Amino acid sequence: MFRYDDADDEPPLKLKIKDLNQNIVCILCAGYFIDATTITECLHTFCKSCIVKYLQMSKQCPMCNIKIHETQPLINLRPDRTMQDVVYRLVPNLFEGEERRKREFYRARGLDKVQSKVQLKSFSGKLDPSGSHFYRNDEQVSLCLEKHRSQMLNQSESPSSLQKRYIRCSVRTCVSHIQKLLIKKLAVPERIEINLYCEDHILYEDEPLKYVWLAHWQGKAAPMILHYQLESSKILSDKSG
Ligand SMILES: [Zn+2]
Ligand SMILES: [Zn+2]
Repeated sequence: MFRYDDADDEPPLKLKIKDLNQNIVCILCAGYFIDATTITECLHTFCKSCIVKYLQMSKQCPMCNIKIHETQPLINLRPDRTMQDVVYRLVPNLFEGEERRKREFYRARGLDKVQSKVQLKSFSGKLDPSGSHFYRNDEQVSLCLEKHRSQMLNQSESPSSLQKRYIRCSVRTCVSHIQKLLIKKLAVPERIEINLYCEDHILYEDEPLKYVWLAHWQGKAAPMILHYQLESSKILSDKSG
């Protein structure tokens, strides 16, 4: 699907998104893949919701008509994360737009509070055994939370450090959720703000971890290291200086 050219003296190959569209657009909804899902029998890819809905009426691939399975076509579907990452990288704002759309969907149904509560619960490792939460089947990201170096100097003044530095959570978790988690775990007063950095880039509240990973941690090993910094460090150092 892509053509790479390694020769140093050639200008970099430029691809127009229009030329790639046929590879990253779902024929069922004519939009970019969302939760890209591939049929194992023929390797054709669709949005998850599109193909699941389609297979309620048919047991054949909508592109090539191959019979997917005698009785249960859904068991021959697989999430295609590589394809989804390609789409998110090629189409600016698609991921953010999709996250916003999901948040609005939940908010309109009064589910947003439930959603964030459930998510914080999952940080502590106590997953709801009934399985009734939205993030259970999500792609996961491993994080390591460390103090920002600017705060290392103030060890004695900073609040208790984290007992559990490593966490795993959904890629849909936003920076703001990690900030809330830190406020809770470090027992810092709510008025103090927590800044999060990845590779010295400050992170914004609304950024989902998927985006942070793609923007700052692509190609590096897990866990992704996030540095936290308490806004109070400024107040504390002003006082001492
Ligand atoms: Zn679709
Ligand atoms: Zn097919």
